[in-house]
Amino acid sequence: MKTKKFLMAAFAGSWVATFAAAPKYVFIFIGDGMSMPQRMVAEEFSMKIGHGPLAMNSLPYQACTRTKAANSIITDSAAAATAIACGHKTNNGMLGMTPDGERVESCAERAKAAGRKVGIITTVTIVHATPAGFYAHRKSRGQSYRIALDLIASGFDYFAGGGVYDKFDDRKDPEYRGNVFDLARGAGYVIATNKAEWAALKPGTKSWSRFADSAMDFSIDSDGSMPTLAEMVSKAIELLDGPDGFFIMCEGGKVDYAGHANDAATNLRDVIALDDAVKVAMAFQDRHPGDTLVIATGDHETGGMSMGFAGTGGRFKVEFLANQKCSAEKLSTIVKKMLKESPDRPFEDVKPLLAEKFGFVFDGDAKDPMLITPAELANIKKAFESDRMKVKKRMADTTAHDVGRVYVFADAVKRTMAAHAGIGWSSGSHTALPTLTTAKGVGADILVGMSENVDIGIRLKKLFMQ
Ligand SMILES: [Zn+2]
Repeated sequence: MKTKKFLMAAFAGSWVATFAAAPKYVFIFIGDGMSMPQRMVAEEFSMKIGHGPLAMNSLPYQACTRTKAANSIITDSAAAATAIACGHKTNNGMLGMTPDGERVESCAERAKAAGRKVGIITTVTIVHATPAGFYAHRKSRGQSYRIALDLIASGFDYFAGGGVYDKFDDRKDPEYRGNVFDLARGAGYVIATNKAEWAALKPGTKSWSRFADSAMDFSIDSDGSMPTLAEMVSKAIELLDGPDGFFIMCEGGKVDYAGHANDAATNLRDVIALDDAVKVAMAFQDRHPGDTLVIATGDHETGGMSMGFAGTGGRFKVEFLANQKCSAEKLSTIVKKMLKESPDRPFEDVKPLLAEKFGFVFDGDAKDPMLITPAELANIKKAFESDRMKVKKRMADTTAHDVGRVYVFADAVKRTMAAHAGIGWSSGSHTALPTLTTAKGVGADILVGMSENVDIGIRLKKLFMQ
């Protein structure tokens, strides 16, 4: 009798404790390719330009998160998303399943089953590995059409981001069932294809918004025609808030693209854009402190970024990156167009462009930190000549459709920029560096210490079992 009473009391106690620990509102922010260097470079830059420290770096609970996949010390985004979303290590390339193909539930699916409204937001394609990890179960991240079928089947309430590449009506896929947007409409989704349609969405409907066929623009290249991550999170709150609460995953997907490109200014602008979205969640948390959890993490590091670069005497002057006004990718596009229009254009013609978009100084005070040295100038000029030769050759080739990618010049420019700012890059792909996970609010205390990426998924899923 005594034992029974004790057990009942213990049960009641744990029920009260677990009930109190279940957050009504969960936000998880994931910077793709965002580890400690990306967070710290962005923070230093943000403070230098008067935008203040990163909100995500101020969250009171922190964990160092190991990222290795089941079959590789260096993870890809599919295995990492499966770990973070589902709490299982899997092989690179696989989504929402174990290495032997067993389907595993994600924390978002469990949140949905527990009655929460679910929102999935990204700056890259909505079928890209990170968002897909929260709703898809596929052997390969490349199966875009089938991943889109899983998106519809998830029944989640809000999708916003890039498109499905050209795979939205992939008749060659053995599982073809129709145009995925038609199928989604049939399943009750309102489809928005631009900012105005998205802004007009009203609570009470499931929606799928896409602002590009592939990935959205880099934040540094934004012309305002696409919403920011912060705006997409605000809209998610407006549409999903209600008595049952919500689960929102927001990915800064293009941090990774800029990491692969070793384009520092573009990288940190996208980290700051993600952080502006974290601020929206923190403001929401201030209004609902007793029932909100905010988590910010990265899925892996990309580029082997360093703060300080031996090649330029180990200095670190991140503020010089404020001179950069567009991505190196955009510079490539501009220069390609110039060369296609007149392939014999001299290098002198692009100097004003470099002064305007990258703050390069060609003649001036020797103390000017943006003064381009004769060696740098020779290197950039050589790269320009290389691109020009390529364009001329391709234009003379009647079988070539286009001049192809022209990137040697933009590559030299961004490397010069990184050297002036003292930022080093050691890789063009992912690295095995752990990431930083920070959290605040109900249940945040479980995310501390040296941990594994699966711990995030395991713990989030536990929260929704109650
Ligand atoms: Zn990547």
